[in-house]
Amino acid sequence: MNTNTNIAPTANFDVEKIREDFPILQTTVHGRPLVYLDNGATAQKPLAVINSMVEYYKGYNSNVHRGVHYLSQKATDAHEAAREGVRAFINAEHTHEIIFTRGTTESINIVAHSFGKAFVNAGDEIIITAMEHHSNIVPWQMLCEERGAILRVIPINANGELILEEYDKLLNERTKLVALVHVSNTLGTVNPVNDIIAKAHVVGAAVLIDGAQSIQHMAVDVQAMDADFFVFSGHKLFGPTGIGVLYGKDKYLNAMPPYQGGGSMIKQVTLEKTTYNELPFKFEAGTPHVEGIIGLGAAIDYINAIGIDNIAAYEHELVAYAVEQLSTIEGLRFIGNAKERVSVLSFLAGDIHPYDIGVILDKLGIAVRTGHHCCQPIMDIFSIPGTVRASFAFYNTKAEVDALVAGLLKAKQMLS
Ligand code: PLP
Repeated sequence: MNTNTNIAPTANFDVEKIREDFPILQTTVHGRPLVYLDNGATAQKPLAVINSMVEYYKGYNSNVHRGVHYLSQKATDAHEAAREGVRAFINAEHTHEIIFTRGTTESINIVAHSFGKAFVNAGDEIIITAMEHHSNIVPWQMLCEERGAILRVIPINANGELILEEYDKLLNERTKLVALVHVSNTLGTVNPVNDIIAKAHVVGAAVLIDGAQSIQHMAVDVQAMDADFFVFSGHKLFGPTGIGVLYGKDKYLNAMPPYQGGGSMIKQVTLEKTTYNELPFKFEAGTPHVEGIIGLGAAIDYINAIGIDNIAAYEHELVAYAVEQLSTIEGLRFIGNAKERVSVLSFLAGDIHPYDIGVILDKLGIAVRTGHHCCQPIMDIFSIPGTVRASFAFYNTKAEVDALVAGLLKAKQMLS
């Protein structure tokens, strides 16, 4: 189980009080109280986040960075305060190392495009793992095809853990980049990123960490980790959709060409030639997603007020309870049994198709995800069509785990 924390949540972590901050958690689905266990796909939003965006539109809607007028300056201040909030949240060294993007997927594509152009040539190698989300596979395949580079893959074992001896064998002086997920969205595995990064650095390779499923569950310190790139999505971190983050060390970001051309990313444009703006603006062409950035800033403030260590400790207990309770169901089989695991539980019940279970749970008001979770290679490795995935957040409760177990028993009874 997850061993990333051994501390208990502080006494003032009150899950029932926290739930009041999330209007959607008070709603019903098919006449039943909503049990939302699809947090890996997207997390629900607290009022503080929703209100921050309403306040922006009601009180200071304006474009940023371009106006001398009051509204523009107010919007710019809020926008840049959010950037500083992100920096502090992941402990980046510099605020200009925080690039706002549309999400994890776009962040990875920026690195594949711009790092690829600057650093990857024919015969070079890029390493990913067999447990990546499609967002951390396809951009590298595209890059390798374009540059004549070679994609290598770290395999996984039957528990859904990386086989690190194979990683050691793959690393060599042709390795330019290692791109891997911090926490698997399908298996829940927490990868030992610190060791993986340290080893890559020995051969001079950069490392991109896909933090889409870790940032909301554990403290992240990109300097301690020594990640060269760390990417995540706002919407999985209780913020709005359409906003994400690319953290990159400035030594790399400065050496990489821009991803898109347009307003904001320029220093000077003549009809013959353009010089580019400094970081972070070099990678932020066009009007940004201002309300999304403000909402993300509010989400981080909200999490900070609760404390990410409290969240990690509470979820540790909750997920341990869920594993224990789900294990009592006859014929239930977990896909992914890593020693280090957070938040995500994927499973199958006998030979019942995951989709059928998902439909019955939905009728009971329980939202889970079924299918391949954008990880088709994992499904191939385990020779399964998909899984049922319950993914937890700090507003979920043991009573909701009990509801899931009762729902699964009912589904089994109906479908067996
Ligand atoms: N990487 C992982 C591990 C994910 O879980 C996801 C989304 O589920 C992504 C990447 C893609 O995130 P987004 O769709 O927000 O860009």
